[in-house]
Amino acid sequence: MIKELLEENEKIIYQSMVNVFKSGNIPQTLLLAGPSNPLKKEAAVFLAQSIIEDHNDLACEECERCQRIKAGNYYDVYLIAGEGKILKDDIERLLEEFHQTALERDGKKVFVIYDIDTANPKAANMILKSIEEPMPGNYWIFTSDREDAVLPTIASRCLIWRFHRPNIAFLQKKYAENSYNMNDAYILARLFHEYRPFDIHDKAYVLAKEMLERTVDSMSRKGSLEMFFINEWYPLAKKEADVFNKSQDYYLDMMIILLHDAIKDNQDYDEWYADLLKQIKAYDLYKMTNIFYEIKDLANTNAERRLLFDRLAYSLDKMEERK
Ligand SMILES: [Zn+2]
Repeated sequence: MIKELLEENEKIIYQSMVNVFKSGNIPQTLLLAGPSNPLKKEAAVFLAQSIIEDHNDLACEECERCQRIKAGNYYDVYLIAGEGKILKDDIERLLEEFHQTALERDGKKVFVIYDIDTANPKAANMILKSIEEPMPGNYWIFTSDREDAVLPTIASRCLIWRFHRPNIAFLQKKYAENSYNMNDAYILARLFHEYRPFDIHDKAYVLAKEMLERTVDSMSRKGSLEMFFINEWYPLAKKEADVFNKSQDYYLDMMIILLHDAIKDNQDYDEWYADLLKQIKAYDLYKMTNIFYEIKDLANTNAERRLLFDRLAYSLDKMEERK
C-alpha cells in the first residue's frame, strides 16, 4: 500500500497530504519533486486515486475504482510517462481528452505527467497555458527529479512536495519486488541510490562482482590478485576499454561498500555477501578502506589505470591478516 509507504518513508509529506484532503481544498496543480525516488511516481497515482475518490481522505487503494486507476483503465485519469522526452504531440493528445467532458460519473479529470522537466519548450508552454486557468474539476500532477529544470512558471503554480532520497532498505525491497535476488538488490540499491531497471548480466557488473570475490579470496591467500589482474582483467582493456573501465568503477564502489559494511558489523545479509564480509573482517578494514578511497580518487583523474590497479594489487597482496 502506497499510503503506508508514504507514512513510513515521507512522514511530513504524508501529513501534509492528509491535511490537504481533509480540508477538501485540493490544489489543482501538484508537483512531486526532490531526488530520484521510485515512491514519487507511485505517490502521483495514489494522489490521482485520492482526488477521484473524493471523500475528504486519502484513497483506499482497494476498491474497484482505485484498482482501475492504478491499472491505467480509468477513463478520466490520463498519464504521460515521457520516457526521456515529452513532446508537443503528447500534450496535444492529452489536451484533446481535456476538452471532452469527464467520462466517468465523478465529473473530474486528473492528468498525471511524469518527469515534467523532460518536456520540450513547446510542450511545456502548452501545459502552462492549461494550468494558468485550470477548469474546475481538472487536476494536474507532475513529478520531477530535477526541479531546477522545470519551467519556473509551471513550478510556481504548483503545491510542491519534495521527496527525500530513498533509504537503502526501501530501494532494496523495490529491486527485490522486481525479481532481483537479495544480493543484487542490495548492491544495486547501494551503487545507484535509486531504483533503475538494470541488467544484472551486464558484463561490467558481472566482472566487478567477480573481482570483488577474487579480491577477498586473494586476501585469504587463495591466489594472487596481481596475477588475476594480469591474466584476466587487463586483456579486456585492450578489447573492450569501456567495459573494462566501467567494471573498475563498479568494483571500486562495491569494495568500498563492502568495507563499510564490514566496519559497521551488521549481520543482516544474504549468504554470498555475508560470506565475503566474514572473510574480509580478518584484515585491517580501515587501512583497506583508505587504499580503496585513494585509488578511487586517482581513477577519477587521468591517472593511468593500469598503474593504479597494479599498485592496488601490490598493496592488497602483501597485506597480512590481523593478529
Ligand atoms: Zn478506493
